[in-house]
Amino acid sequence: MDLYEFQARQLLEEAGIPVPSAVYAATVGDAGNAADDVGYPCVVKGQATIGHRGQAGAVRLARNRDEAEVLAEKILPMRIHGHAVNGVLVAEGKSILHEYYVSISIDRSSRDFDVLATANGGTEVEEVARMHPESVRRLHIEALDDFGPQDARRMAEDIGFYHADVDQAAEVLLRMWRCFRDNDATLVEINPLAKIGDPDDESSKSLCALDAKISLDDNAAFRHQGWTRFEDTAHRDPFEARARELGLHYVHLDGQVGVIGNGAGLVMSSLDAVAGAGRTQRTGVRAANFLDIGGGASAKVMSDSLGIVLSDPQVRSVLINVYGGITSCDEVARGLLDAVAEHDPSLPIVVRFDGNQAARGLSILSAARDPRILVRSTMEEAAQAAAQAAAEPSETAKEGSR
Ligand code: GDP
Ligand code: MN
Repeated sequence: MDLYEFQARQLLEEAGIPVPSAVYAATVGDAGNAADDVGYPCVVKGQATIGHRGQAGAVRLARNRDEAEVLAEKILPMRIHGHAVNGVLVAEGKSILHEYYVSISIDRSSRDFDVLATANGGTEVEEVARMHPESVRRLHIEALDDFGPQDARRMAEDIGFYHADVDQAAEVLLRMWRCFRDNDATLVEINPLAKIGDPDDESSKSLCALDAKISLDDNAAFRHQGWTRFEDTAHRDPFEARARELGLHYVHLDGQVGVIGNGAGLVMSSLDAVAGAGRTQRTGVRAANFLDIGGGASAKVMSDSLGIVLSDPQVRSVLINVYGGITSCDEVARGLLDAVAEHDPSLPIVVRFDGNQAARGLSILSAARDPRILVRSTMEEAAQAAAQAAAEPSETAKEGSR
């Protein structure tokens, strides 16, 4: 579960990491009140579970109530890279002396924890990492060892925190680690971890977490009663909420091709293949969603999946990419025919099967002679066909008849 900034900062605060004072607001009027409470200048920040909000114009400085309300009016209806903005956070406007970047995440290959950090944080951190990879430090916290104050201090020095900041940085690192561990997080990222204060007064300077991104491990939900406080707001996307009720692994994106597949890796590759096809065809067509049906491609799962994907009005074609393993493709084919009969879609569905019983699955589909179902033998060809169909809706895809 990806938390919004206003939720993530609660966890940082509980771990004792300094954050600016801030108030969450869901409406323009509330944002005005929040700004008056926080004081000026303040920063109006769109809440969406995605980064690069600053570059998208969803993080802006306001000097008075009018400005705060005008900004909230602009930011509240925004979508950022397909993610709906859910309220704004009105935060104390700090004057920034320097921006650091620090994150802790799980490293699945070494089975320990990765600390990524750079003294050049901020909104351009990816660019910095590309141009000056040597400035990004990658360190580890051993899963079975304790990570204590001395380790944190050594790490802070190693990262390149400026001398005066090392002590406080070590404290922040230690608290970040505890926040990560105690909350069963998969990611705790602070960017910027800002040095704030009066440039002429050394004693006024300190580190403060101006932005936080935290992802929690859903598998640990059972031992965190407190997570219910995050759930209502973390699933405002109506498609994702519905998928969750049905137990489907679905992520809503902003393209036009609905994608259904089995296995997270295969589905991700399918998203890339669709985006690649959209690029070569120069239509900019992209995937409308990620949907992993996992091992259980029963008729019900297929029907629920197709139902969710088709309910998205942006969807203009569907790509179904299944590698038969335990689930055989002939079962998937029968499930798909049932689902098509049930939902009676008016748009093309492109299918690619491989693996267990792929040929039988495809011949079941061919025998149905449904003009809406197009069969392709490779992922590449299927993605091309789905992207093309989405760009120029076919005869069968009559607008408005869905
Ligand atoms: P992101 O773009 O989604 O990562 O959103 P951030 O919350 O990190 O904001 C983007 C940028 O806005 C930061 O890197 C800062 O440079 C700037 N920013 C955020 N909060 C403040 C603040 O309180 N004061 C000032 N001056 N700038 C801020
Ligand atoms: Mn940020």
